[in-house]
Amino acid sequence: MAITGIKGFNDILPGEVEKWQRIEATARRVFENCGFSEIRVPIMEKTELFARSIGDATDIVEKEMYSFVDKGDNRVTLRPEGTAGVIRSFIEQKLHAQDPVAKLYYMGPMFRSERPQKGRYRQFHQIGAEVTGITNPRIDAQILVMLCRFFAELGITEPTLQINSLGCPECRPAYRAALKEYLEMRRESLCDDCRRRIDTNPLRALDCKVIGCGEATAEAPSVLQHLCSGCDEHFASVRRHLDATGTSYSVNHRMVRGLDYYTRTTFELVTGLLGSQSAVAAGGRYDGLIQELGGPKLPGIGFAMGVERVALLLSDEGLARRPDLFIAAHGEAAGDEAFRLMILLQGEGLRVELEYEGKSLKSQMRRADKLGARYTLVLGEDELVSRRGKLKEMASGEQQELPLEPAALARALSCS
Ligand code: ATP
Ligand code: MG
Repeated sequence: MAITGIKGFNDILPGEVEKWQRIEATARRVFENCGFSEIRVPIMEKTELFARSIGDATDIVEKEMYSFVDKGDNRVTLRPEGTAGVIRSFIEQKLHAQDPVAKLYYMGPMFRSERPQKGRYRQFHQIGAEVTGITNPRIDAQILVMLCRFFAELGITEPTLQINSLGCPECRPAYRAALKEYLEMRRESLCDDCRRRIDTNPLRALDCKVIGCGEATAEAPSVLQHLCSGCDEHFASVRRHLDATGTSYSVNHRMVRGLDYYTRTTFELVTGLLGSQSAVAAGGRYDGLIQELGGPKLPGIGFAMGVERVALLLSDEGLARRPDLFIAAHGEAAGDEAFRLMILLQGEGLRVELEYEGKSLKSQMRRADKLGARYTLVLGEDELVSRRGKLKEMASGEQQELPLEPAALARALSCS
């Protein structure tokens, strides 16, 4: 019996991969225009890095991590998200010594042991960005505008931007206490997870997908009413910059995010098209994380988007790769010449194919059709003698006669 892949770990095949390439190329272009550089960090880190940064009482660390003990007795984890590794590297490689302001982006696989379903997998991919060393709310707005521009450039207009502020260590404890008190009074209506969260992570109850919890917390106190003046002003400035740049958003005071390190601004891009997998991208400010991980006292902000979810929203129109030219040949000598021309034209940057296994002319033309070749060229005895051939445009059926010369052919193919 053939060996299958692991459940929740997907293959990305030709036909689908073109979407991924477009998503990645668009991210690179849009992010680099905003001054970001790529960073590549390992997919495995010490388990304690994630436990310390993401937080012990989060779903990710409690239930979703792929952790194991390696042969050297080290506790290691396949990364469930990208921020922890990037910040670990920022500190370890002392990037802050050259410049406390780093603007970094990354893309690659992440691993979470969740129940696989549409838009939720065990190996999935994120494209994310992080900025260190800037407190000014203009950078919050820059990141949000950049994210919206990325989606606009892909022609994806549906997700909407929701923003919130989670306050800071100064004002959040009072909010946490108020929320805890509110939840305590409704303990009976909450799910088991949320009852536990009352003590460990009460904010998460606002985000619970169980309907009863949604109803029980409908009137819960709002974090925005508990912000200290610094956080309140910061959030007002972010909104002002979004307004000034014509970026649409809504404020959602119930959005709490699943990672402990967030402070102040948090945000999500939310779609109605993917069922309960509604968050396409998410992020926020993490002003305490760099120090928490042993680095200097510098603020940070970042986001990550799920590439599978972006791909589900992206139309595949115009993405299929088609050969510019398919060369069909009749006879052995013509086959050799077709091969030589193909190699030369590929060198000119054209996508050119032929049939390797010497089939009939008719079956070669069927293959040209199947591949969707824009042009075909048929070589036989006559063409070899005259050194001229007929280039046929498949869509219109129009033919033009040309010398069998790479330069002339390349010119004709590039003109269209
Ligand atoms: P969700 O609420 O859907 O579980 P999350 O809050 O766990 O999302 P983050 O940790 O903020 O998600 O990750 C950012 C993005 O990564 C999400 O918005 C989503 O697009 C994507 N993502 C997260 N988990 C998965 C997964 N298991 N499979 C596919 N994409 C995922
Ligand atoms: Mg999740």
